[in-house]
Amino acid sequence: LAVSIDDVINVCKRRGIIFQSSEVYGGYAGFWDYGPLGVELRANIKQAWWRDMVHRRDDVVGLDSSIIGSPKIWKASGHIDGFSDPMVDCRTSKLRFRADQLFWSRAEVDGQLLGYVSLLETDDMDELVLEAATKLQRKAGLRGTLSCTPVKDFTEASDEEQSLVPSPATGEAGSLTPPRAFNLMFQTNVGAMVDQSSVAYLRPETAQGIFTNFKNVVATGRVKVPFGIAQIGKAFRNEITPRNFIFRSREFEQMEIEYFIDDQDATWPVEHERWLQTMWNWLKSIGLREDLMARDVHESHKLAHYARACTDIMFTFPFGTQELMGCAARGNFDLTQHAAASGKSMEYFDDETKAKYVPHVIEPSIGVDRLMLAVLCSAYAEDEVGGEKRSVLKLHPRLAPIKAAVLPLVKNKPELVEKAQAIYKRLQRRYYVTYDDSGQIGRRYRRMDEVGTPYCITVDFETLEDDSVTIRERDSTLQRRIKLPELLEFLEEQIDA
Ligand code: ATP
Repeated sequence: LAVSIDDVINVCKRRGIIFQSSEVYGGYAGFWDYGPLGVELRANIKQAWWRDMVHRRDDVVGLDSSIIGSPKIWKASGHIDGFSDPMVDCRTSKLRFRADQLFWSRAEVDGQLLGYVSLLETDDMDELVLEAATKLQRKAGLRGTLSCTPVKDFTEASDEEQSLVPSPATGEAGSLTPPRAFNLMFQTNVGAMVDQSSVAYLRPETAQGIFTNFKNVVATGRVKVPFGIAQIGKAFRNEITPRNFIFRSREFEQMEIEYFIDDQDATWPVEHERWLQTMWNWLKSIGLREDLMARDVHESHKLAHYARACTDIMFTFPFGTQELMGCAARGNFDLTQHAAASGKSMEYFDDETKAKYVPHVIEPSIGVDRLMLAVLCSAYAEDEVGGEKRSVLKLHPRLAPIKAAVLPLVKNKPELVEKAQAIYKRLQRRYYVTYDDSGQIGRRYRRMDEVGTPYCITVDFETLEDDSVTIRERDSTLQRRIKLPELLEFLEEQIDA
């Protein structure tokens, strides 16, 4: 991937797509604000998903459940007891790290142990390990050939080995505490009393709201198994090490489907594969680069206890290949847990076969923010137009924040301005479009390229005579004339496909 994460961060900041949360107070780790163009891009991502997963299917309905629900939900789902990551503390720096993201390497000079280097998993490992080891070598004043071999995942190391791992913060061995479970749920209190009895949690996933509403939807939604319930909403996790821009944050948004199927053993593998393909094709259709996508099948011994299978769709970000989304076959674990804890039946009755059972589910789950980052990394490009360098976001027209820019050739000819304004107002009824009359036309094109606007519509003197405009396409920069009555139809075909 030629694009660097700094290129993406810079364009996001420069163009008002993403800002650091609480920036005036020096920022707040793990939280992000979406600016004028970011909010449009996010809304378009969510709308594309909702249209394709809910509106354009006959077997999925929507839901919007509350962010805070009864704490009994999280007890039954297993989150209170088990939704944790292994954490280590650095005794010297007081910094905390996720132990399963901590990798350490043995550094040797001419085959002789020099020391150990530890780093967090998603960094550009090889280069940084070498850099740290070179520092060690310089400090030791040793000449010779340096080599580094990765040892293993910190959580798999023995007690003695753990005591050897240097802290990524200080480089000092023996300064990391042994790993302990750290629950990722944010706590709050509901009601006037602030004590143990009023503790509640911000949801760490949207899925449980779907399970707890399963019976409501079945009773009112005219749905029949197999069917899905889709939800888009905020989720919160007190991540130990939020990083890589918006890839891992503490407040994020998820788009999840619980697809309910029968309880026959032959059904779930077929449905699981079908959903993986559906999601893969959908990601491609909104412009994700397929050459950067891959599947990662979880090995059976690494699965959560309730999961039958889980396959992630991975994406190669500038900082490494990472999970973009997960697709799990969860059996009927969740519904069974809620039935047991609430005393309410979660059984489904099939009118045709007269069978009664607790449905199994397939769960495709993706983060809006993480997808937005993958979209930006897929779209960012630098090229040359007419000998001039440009940076361009080659976003799919469906996702582009601004769908078209209306550009009057000059701004001091009232008839031309009037015509351009009329076109602008007409398009505005349908899309988020912009009007720009400042500066050279080439400069105006470039501004739009950088924020991913797929079409620029130039209104010139000929327009007044023949009722046509010049439409310029962002990626090819090709220009052609189009009759005004055909303009809207053309845009619809490209944008609403
Ligand atoms: P990870 O292993 O990266 O912590 P996970 O396997 O716990 O993620 P899931 O619980 O499967 O993630 O969540 C489903 C999806 O939600 C992920 O594939 C990702 O797109 C998104 N997601 C999860 N945690 C975060 C986060 N902290 N920030 C942004 N998106 C997230």
